Amino acid sequence: MAETIVTRFAPSPTGFLHIGGARTALFNWLYARARGGKMLLRIEDTDRERSTQAALDAILDGLSWLGLNWDGDVIYQFSRADRHREVAEELLAKGLAYRCYASPEELTQMREAARSAGRAKLYDGRWRDRDPSEAPPGVKPVIRLKAPVTGETVIEDKVQGRVVWKNEDLDDLVLLRSDGTPTYMHAVVVDDHDMGVTHIIRGDDHLTNGARQKQIYDALGWTVPVMAHIPLIHGPDGSKLSKRHGALGVDAYRGMGYLPQALRNYLVRLGWAHGDQEIFSTEEMIAAFDLPQIGRSPARFDFAKLENISGHYIRASSDEDLLAELEKALPYLADGPVLAAKLNPDLRRKILLAMPGLKERAKSLVDLLEGSRFLWASRPLTMEEKAKALLTPEARVIIGSLITDLSALNPWDATTTETAVRAYAERTQAKLGSVAQPLRAALTGRTTSPGIFEVLVALGKDESIARLRDQV
Ligand code: GLU
Repeated sequence: MAETIVTRFAPSPTGFLHIGGARTALFNWLYARARGGKMLLRIEDTDRERSTQAALDAILDGLSWLGLNWDGDVIYQFSRADRHREVAEELLAKGLAYRCYASPEELTQMREAARSAGRAKLYDGRWRDRDPSEAPPGVKPVIRLKAPVTGETVIEDKVQGRVVWKNEDLDDLVLLRSDGTPTYMHAVVVDDHDMGVTHIIRGDDHLTNGARQKQIYDALGWTVPVMAHIPLIHGPDGSKLSKRHGALGVDAYRGMGYLPQALRNYLVRLGWAHGDQEIFSTEEMIAAFDLPQIGRSPARFDFAKLENISGHYIRASSDEDLLAELEKALPYLADGPVLAAKLNPDLRRKILLAMPGLKERAKSLVDLLEGSRFLWASRPLTMEEKAKALLTPEARVIIGSLITDLSALNPWDATTTETAVRAYAERTQAKLGSVAQPLRAALTGRTTSPGIFEVLVALGKDESIARLRDQV
């Protein structure tokens, strides 16, 4: 029987789900989904001081928003501390680990000695083969792995290729601290093994940890999962990703009004390619994703590309779906709650009427919200400076005359309003634009909007005439 693929996403709840973590989760999710496997979620909360409920909530929310569902219950690493201790004791009993009583002062001396001798290995192994009867009284020991001192530790990484470490450079790592708590290195190995993880896909900042973890697997006689260490995301200039460059939490992208499917599409192409295809449906992404196409050089974060992809998803969505997405996103958008408080069936109908014009110009739900603002703004409108400038005395005269023409219309639709405005322009030998621009300014308070006849229709006759009257 073919082995079931099990991947995992293992965030520490010490900060929000940042964009790099979201990409790691996505890659694990895609790999498992394409192969009928499972993606597990393990919360690495052993650092009790720095783990917070807010960070945990942000991780769970962010994954759910992106549609990256995990299999089974969330596993909390801290709850498995007894099991971590048990495995360390087992290694101790087999003589594959030992108690080390070195004091903090001794460790500092060893570190300094190693540094001045240019040695990578910091711990000198002084308790490795010492008889336990020599233990100093009253000192609680740590438990260290009796790691091999000769030969090599090799990882055949699916992204980095064959990576080799000389064992003489690797320390006997600590498995259990003197208070009995497991180290990250030890807990990860025990958990990945017990959870049946077959593939570890994570950032390449963990590559050296991979070698150290392999030594633990080897000591335990456990099978080492396949490893794929993906290069971290860099800024547009190739430097480490900073906040300014987009190193933000997923919630920030939600607040910027990106559709989750657009962000997911953007993320999948960060460091992975499938020919030159840029747009992937979920099914296409799942079918195409594989480890060999992950690049070995860091991907660069590119806001302009994210915006383009987002604009694509906005234009490709139906008007009804977009309105539903906008409504869902309102709690997270600036001024979203203001719109939420005003949304009623009539306003929904107006937004839908304007949607074809709104979505042409929008790259995000924030753009849609801003673009639709004229529909839910209260009179008298707050005018943008540029719009105010259009409302010259001459323009107000034009608006005054148009009020008379428009008031006579029945029915009020795109054809009748257009005919009336064009007839007015011809009669006064004015260019259509010189009539439409002041009209737009008066109706929307802005200089850009959907087409002016769409605006008139979406606002309706009474509101349109009232807004025009406000300006004469
Ligand atoms: N908890 C680690 C982190 O958030 C990940 C550990 C792992 O993937 O092995 O960086």
